[in-house]
Amino acid sequence: MEIKVNLAIKKKEKPTDESELGFGQIFTDHILLMDYDTIHDWHNARIEPYGYLKLDPAAACLHYGQEIFEGLKAYYGKDGGIYLFRAVENFKRFNHSAKRVCMPELDVDLAMEALKKLILLDREWIPKTRGTSLYIRPTMIAIDPFLGVRPASKYLFYIIIGPVGSYYPEGLNPVKIYVEDRYVRAVPGGTGEAKTAGNYAASLLAAEEAKEKGFTQVLWLDGCEKMWVEEVGTMNMFFVIDDEVITAPLTGSILGGITRDSVIKIVRDWGLKMKERLVSIDEVATAATSGQLKEAFGTGTAAVISPVGQITYKGKDYVITGGKMGELSQKLYDEIVAIQYAEKPDPYGWTEQIG
Ligand SMILES: *Cc1c(COP(=O)(O)O)cnc(C)c1O
Repeated sequence: MEIKVNLAIKKKEKPTDESELGFGQIFTDHILLMDYDTIHDWHNARIEPYGYLKLDPAAACLHYGQEIFEGLKAYYGKDGGIYLFRAVENFKRFNHSAKRVCMPELDVDLAMEALKKLILLDREWIPKTRGTSLYIRPTMIAIDPFLGVRPASKYLFYIIIGPVGSYYPEGLNPVKIYVEDRYVRAVPGGTGEAKTAGNYAASLLAAEEAKEKGFTQVLWLDGCEKMWVEEVGTMNMFFVIDDEVITAPLTGSILGGITRDSVIKIVRDWGLKMKERLVSIDEVATAATSGQLKEAFGTGTAAVISPVGQITYKGKDYVITGGKMGELSQKLYDEIVAIQYAEKPDPYGWTEQIG
């Protein structure tokens, strides 16, 4: 499919101070769009000047939440090249999410081609400081102007991109997390493993209440027994108990993070004991009390590795690694970031130079 390009005549002002980029507030000059309907399939791939979407107020996505998205990054490498990190995996997961909420799948090759074209067109926007990157947000929405609960027949796919700052301008600060034992995020058979809008709306109230109590994040337990550790906000969770590195298995209510997968592969490669198994909050609390819990950290595209310095469960605080960054957390962070910024050879074939 040909991707038409309609260049922006008026260019936006680019941020000048890369230390103040923040996250998700600045977008580049262009957007990639593509239409779907049941007769024509995907068609009309085009790059346009960044701007508002025109939607019918009855558009299905606005009423019944038929929406999916992805989050990934492009990096300005040490050698001046532009790199993507496991981007194909993001589009595969996008298709996985699509199936769960009855949306049409994308052709992954076409999506990759479109993404590269958009990034290269706006390449001047990619920040250069280590730790900064170009955040990429592929999105699909149902746009049928019809108030009825059924899968739509018309969809819009788009990608917006924008420079984002280093997640840790002052180094990796361990976070305090609140173990949520009242609200749940996802249940078996639900949509927890899809990156779809409703999951995030469902998580907001708990996150707000935790924030009021002084916590940065909520640790979700399983939706049935409220006993098994699932994940944190937009990150998967890892624990180091004795010499075992543990993360919850992908049972359907957890989002299968690509950073999670990278960490599992690296930990195994380093010859450490890596277990994908159920871990109860009681096991974590007991291990924290006895000193067997060596480290806890979250994994996700935004922060890569986010060390956890404290967990609070049923009113009790459990301090982890003395509230500091653990050794393995630091090592994993350094390894993944070095691969992403092409500072060391990538033995996994995860990075792709696109420019
Ligand atoms: C996106 C996301 C993650 C992390 O996935 P990555 O691919 O590592 O960025 C984890 N949990 C949830 C709920 C998410 O939305």
